[in-house]
Amino acid sequence: MSGTIKRNILLNPGPATTTDTVKMAQVVPDICPREKEFAGMMRKLRSDLVKIVHGDPEKYTSVLFCGSGTINIDVCLNSLLPEGGRILIVNNGAYSARAVEVCQYYGLSYINLEFPTDELPDLAVVEKTLRENSDIALVHTTHNETGTGILNPIGEIGALAHKYHAVFTVDTTSTLAMRPIDMEKEQIDFCMASAQKGLMAMTGLSFIIGRRDLIEKSASYPRRSYYCNLFLQYDWFEKTGEMHFTPPVQTIYAAIQAIEEYFAEGEEEKWKRHTRVFNAIREGLAELGFREVIKEEWQAGLVASVYYPEDENWDFEKVHDYCYDRGFTIYPGKVASADTFRLCALGAIDEQDIRNFFVVFREALAQCRVEIPIKYNSGETSLQ
Ligand SMILES: *Cc1c(COP(=O)(O)O)cnc(C)c1O
Repeated sequence: MSGTIKRNILLNPGPATTTDTVKMAQVVPDICPREKEFAGMMRKLRSDLVKIVHGDPEKYTSVLFCGSGTINIDVCLNSLLPEGGRILIVNNGAYSARAVEVCQYYGLSYINLEFPTDELPDLAVVEKTLRENSDIALVHTTHNETGTGILNPIGEIGALAHKYHAVFTVDTTSTLAMRPIDMEKEQIDFCMASAQKGLMAMTGLSFIIGRRDLIEKSASYPRRSYYCNLFLQYDWFEKTGEMHFTPPVQTIYAAIQAIEEYFAEGEEEKWKRHTRVFNAIREGLAELGFREVIKEEWQAGLVASVYYPEDENWDFEKVHDYCYDRGFTIYPGKVASADTFRLCALGAIDEQDIRNFFVVFREALAQCRVEIPIKYNSGETSLQ
């Protein structure tokens, strides 16, 4: 039966290409998620998630939510801010900008510390901001800014947050279960992801991994949301083993299968595979003469962000559709100041898939009469 599922190569930044065994894991007998059997599965799932980021199970826990990855940002920011506290967002891209919007929607007090999207945050400025604003109670940033593929120095930002007694939350949605993460070493109090990205499972399940003591402390913080309150969901899990409200049942079965496959592949081997895929992407792009937005040494190794050719025949939609019809999905960029597209190394794919993609991609460019090597008129391309 599994052989009949068409295999698409998704080069978008999630959902990712999944294995047939993960797809099929969703086809199970109907079960009421209030059964003990289901609660037991979720307990194991929660502790496995802590294991993936090497958290001490006494100190760290994980809390599941039904929703896409953005729900984690919403939950962390609205739940972990004490009365009178302020949030510092270290912002160099689209996903940290989303966190700023969450603050705005809840009316939370925040500082939006913006840096150019193609540069790393200036840690001296981060420290100065913390020193001058003693009401900052929470620092938030994004690990791999999926909009550009830049990797932020979370260990250093975390150390600064802690030096000034702030909680550190990191959006690790596009690194967790791909790039190895160690909660303690990287000074992370809370990290987060959704099942459809690094885990290579299905959409609809998101999770926050973080410090138990801080979640328990937050019980007395202002309650700003009902469905998206971290303590409420945690407390329910601890007392009953269940999600407060209906969980995404079949998605959870798929996530459990995906985690089994994660541990079978191994943290190191999996990261090596993503690196192989990413290198094949970068080589393929370089061969065609494409230019990337982020310099090599700053890349997270998972998202290649590429400038559009300066060629009148370039038409992203047409190239996309040609590739899509042949089973390959490419994705537009998320950089406000420049036209870009992205190719990502997520999912159950390997370098041969990328080689096959570039055969099709080259055909698409030829079909559109885009010049190869790719043309850029203005010499040095930059975001300015
Ligand atoms: C994918 C992603 C999210 C979640 O986005 P959704 O649209 O809610 O799935 C959040 N942060 C980062 C860094 C991501 O890559």
